Amino acid sequence: METILVTGANRGIGQALVEQGLKRGARVIAAMRHVADADFSINDPARLKIIALDVTDDASVAAAAAAISEPIDILINNAGIAGPQTPAASTSDFAGFLQTLNINTVGPLRVSHAFLPHVRRGTAKKITTITSGMGELNANSDWTPYRTSKVAVNKVMRALASDLRVEGIAVGMFCPGWVRTRMGGSNASISPEESAKGLYNQIDALNLKNTGIYQNYAGRSIPFAS
Ligand code: NDP
Repeated sequence: METILVTGANRGIGQALVEQGLKRGARVIAAMRHVADADFSINDPARLKIIALDVTDDASVAAAAAAISEPIDILINNAGIAGPQTPAASTSDFAGFLQTLNINTVGPLRVSHAFLPHVRRGTAKKITTITSGMGELNANSDWTPYRTSKVAVNKVMRALASDLRVEGIAVGMFCPGWVRTRMGGSNASISPEESAKGLYNQIDALNLKNTGIYQNYAGRSIPFAS
């Protein structure tokens, strides 16, 4: 049976990725900072495992990896924060900037490292990261800390794609669209379910030929820089 691990799984897009994963028949490991926050409409203890994982905390990530013995087919780095939503010229919350980089950029690499042995033993062998269209390197200045963290995670994951191709592991970066979550707000254009369905379509199409791709939930390629 296919096994999927999702970080930031207690709400928003992560929660929808867990639910859609269960609907497609997979076994899902739902990783979240506080397991008491778990909230899923499908409760199948045989296929749903809930674990504690804070992507900024080395000990938490190591403990989560140690608690999982089975192979992982698809790792989904979803956890993320908006951080200070300021343009470059007025960004002065440097602690907030660094926290954004820690969660959105270093977090996915920290988790990928910890679970690499599990992915190596998996069948599908896929590491994916929910990035953003704001990860395109351009002149836009609003949300500078967030944009920077997503540009940087694209770089990190592209490098990981190069490193891991030889091992048969494919790496993909996917924008979920503008989604109605706490981060996306109620005016966003699509539901978490629609986003999750589209994301799985793109994850299914990820392979060693297109490893390193950056595209949105509907399959539209996004340039790394414009
Ligand atoms: P939400 O704010 O709804 O959810 C964010 C999730 O990340 C929560 O589960 C949160 O957990 C978790 N998280 C935050 N910090 C950590 C941490 N240190 N360790 C583990 N988990 C953490 O956001 P979305 O669902 O909208 O976003 C999910 C991903 O999609 C993010 O990477 C985001 O950047 C990306 N994205 C979203 C868009 C949108 O329109 N919504 C657009 C483009 C990209 P907790 O509840 O404990 O805080």
